[in-house]
Amino acid sequence: MSEACKISAEALKVAGKFMQPGISTWEIDAEIEKFIRSTGARPNFKGLYGFPGSACISVNEVLIHGIPSKKIILKEGDIVSVDTGAAIGGFNGDNAYTFAVGAISEEAQKLLKVTEECLYRGIEQARVGNRMGDISNAVQSHAESFGYGVVRKFVGHGVGRDLHEDPEVPNFGRPGRGVRLAAGMTLAIEPMINLKGADVKVLSDGWTTVPTSGSLSAHFEHTIVITTDGPKILTKV
Ligand code: MG
Repeated sequence: MSEACKISAEALKVAGKFMQPGISTWEIDAEIEKFIRSTGARPNFKGLYGFPGSACISVNEVLIHGIPSKKIILKEGDIVSVDTGAAIGGFNGDNAYTFAVGAISEEAQKLLKVTEECLYRGIEQARVGNRMGDISNAVQSHAESFGYGVVRKFVGHGVGRDLHEDPEVPNFGRPGRGVRLAAGMTLAIEPMINLKGADVKVLSDGWTTVPTSGSLSAHFEHTIVITTDGPKILTKV
């Protein structure tokens, strides 16, 4: 898990180096794939449920599952969520980060800051004896305190031999409810937050997911392991 997660984190760092106006999301995806394969790992998103890319690259209002495309060219002021993972030795890593392309609006800066804070507040609750609802509520309450929409339709998940395993890790819920957390659980915690409204829809390509409000949206994710000493982030370089 550690190795797969470290490569996943490095892949995100690679993506970050290419966040500049004029580049296509297809080119960024190609760099991510090249990097992951150079380590001997496999881009675990590629072909999963038929997804064509090595990473999901989601620009501005696109929340998640953006398909890398030669037609999507980044420009100054965009926010770009990259979600990617690597599989090696029979285990998986999964992580996401929303990047800024050059200078972005204050509104976008705040959305990114708060969504990332939601991630760390959720991770902080990933402790032995807590319940899933403690993670979920930490994410939800922070996002909603800024009036943002917390997406219900997509959730975090367990990670291990498969990229997506039980249990679900919702970004909404009540403290003290849900699955009891135990040492050794490996979870992908991934707040998906809309500037306006919680509803999302999937576009006709079957993947691209956007808020029905059409607002900006952000997504941050780490794979963590719960230990008796607290949560440990595995997707760290
Ligand atoms: Mg995930």
